[in-house]
Amino acid sequence: MNTVTDLTARRAQVCTALQHVLPARAVLSAVEDTRPYECDGLAAYRQLPMIVVLPDSEAQVVAVLRVCRELGVPVVPRGAGTGLSGGAMPIADGVVLSTARLNRIVRMDAYSRTAVVQPGVRNLAISEAAAPYGLYYAPDPSSQIACTIGGNVAENSGGVHCLKYGLTVHNVLRVRMVTIDGEVVELGSEALDAPGLDLLSVFIGSEGMLGIVTEVTVKLVPKPATARVIMASFDEVVKGCHAVAALIAAGIIPAGLEMMDQTSSRMVEPFVKAGYDTEAAAILLCEADGTVEEVEEEIARMSAVLNTAGAIAIAVSQTEAERLRFWSGRKNAFPAAGRISPDYYCMDGTIPRKRLGEVLAGIAAMETKYGLRCANVFHAGDGNLHPLILFNANIPDEFHRAEAFGAEILALCVEVGGTITGEHGVGIEKINSMCVQFAPAELEAFFSVKRSFDPHSLLNPDKAIPTLHRCAEFGKMHVSGGALPFSNLPRF
Ligand SMILES: Cc1cc2nc3c(=O)[nH]c(=O)nc-3n(C[C@H](O)[C@H](O)[C@H](O)COP(=O)(O)OP(=O)(O)OC[C@H]3O[C@@H](n4cnc5c(N)ncnc54)[C@H](O)[C@@H]3O)c2cc1C
Repeated sequence: MNTVTDLTARRAQVCTALQHVLPARAVLSAVEDTRPYECDGLAAYRQLPMIVVLPDSEAQVVAVLRVCRELGVPVVPRGAGTGLSGGAMPIADGVVLSTARLNRIVRMDAYSRTAVVQPGVRNLAISEAAAPYGLYYAPDPSSQIACTIGGNVAENSGGVHCLKYGLTVHNVLRVRMVTIDGEVVELGSEALDAPGLDLLSVFIGSEGMLGIVTEVTVKLVPKPATARVIMASFDEVVKGCHAVAALIAAGIIPAGLEMMDQTSSRMVEPFVKAGYDTEAAAILLCEADGTVEEVEEEIARMSAVLNTAGAIAIAVSQTEAERLRFWSGRKNAFPAAGRISPDYYCMDGTIPRKRLGEVLAGIAAMETKYGLRCANVFHAGDGNLHPLILFNANIPDEFHRAEAFGAEILALCVEVGGTITGEHGVGIEKINSMCVQFAPAELEAFFSVKRSFDPHSLLNPDKAIPTLHRCAEFGKMHVSGGALPFSNLPRF
């Protein structure tokens, strides 16, 4: 699309076609209506979409995709827009397909411990609906009050409870989705396994590039009789990191195992008053759940390991209110960053647990190198880091330094045997880092999968998988001798 006139004409053409298959109120094209969709949680990157559609049934999704396929219009699926990697960022001449109106809980089946939900249902709403049956949906992203199950499927989202109960991929039995050709396909089954190749696992985490999710069957698990959480303080970050590895090595799988460094606990404490030890270099939150006896025994075992690992103080929640208070700081850490910095850039890399201490030391050294602070609050049990790089977008160059800082953290994750994303996806944010993680042949294999679902590359194109050309360019721009990468991002 070269000129404003071209875009205006194209918008009118596509709008007319979409209004034939959707009610007029479900097709938005005025700037004041499309502006709220210009970015997701990675607000540094923005792009107004040409059109936004709000289908309220699977049949309408099919019709929209047929129109877009026919006219060659790119489609970006969008749930709640809480993604942190730009996965739902629009394309200038594309359609954003919002699932906001596909928000029904279709069936709650306590007997089979499953729920069938539309993609726009919020993560927490599933657990709220399951609560009267003594059940809940285990994967619990910190954004769970807002994020949708469709977004969770597309990102293979995790959360505090995923160490013990698994990620989205371990808790979804079946996905119903629509291909760009308008074909409705079911992946997986409501049984433990499904015949044929395991395309469900391929689809989960595919970031909206293979099809639009229209229905999801999730597993529900019984709510534990009780849960308690330990807050352990350490005078050195590295001791806290060793404690994480020691807990798992002792054969304990806590229901949650999270770490906050001192920058994080000091950032959060005045905000939520969780009772955190702000003098400690690091604190660990370790949860035990189960029957009263199981919890008591696990708390004792965990306390022994933590003491041996050098904890300087241990507090155990005595009431449910106290347990929730201990977690409230962790769950509110990202918003609390706004108290100490105008902007933050949240990274998401995963590393082997035994390398945690080394990588956190590396990040501390990068703070000096880039002249920016970084708060670390993360899913320690999974080795899933979330460095929050603090910057001020109004200071020239700070955002570029934050990006370079983030890219170097991800490169370090790969170097120690880890990955460039744990749960936030690649989107546009980490697309260059994919060139660090994967060889050309592997990237080509990913493209082959994409082409077999979406031969014309209309579904969320230019996200998640970099072209080889892009990697070659990135190679030339890679940080070396202080030169900055990404100077012209986004470059599609
Ligand atoms: C404060 C905060 C805390 C967070 N904590 C966590 C955390 O603990 N764990 C975690 O994993 N993530 C976390 N996230 C990231 C984010 O919430 C998750 O990635 C979430 O799954 C995104 O859901 P969404 O509905 O907002 O999706 P969106 O942001 O709208 O979209 C995300 C991706 O999914 C695709 N998509 C959305 N709906 C569909 C559909 N129906 N069909 C096909 N593709 C679709 C989009 O195209 C995009 O690529 C956090 C974000 C914030 C802002």
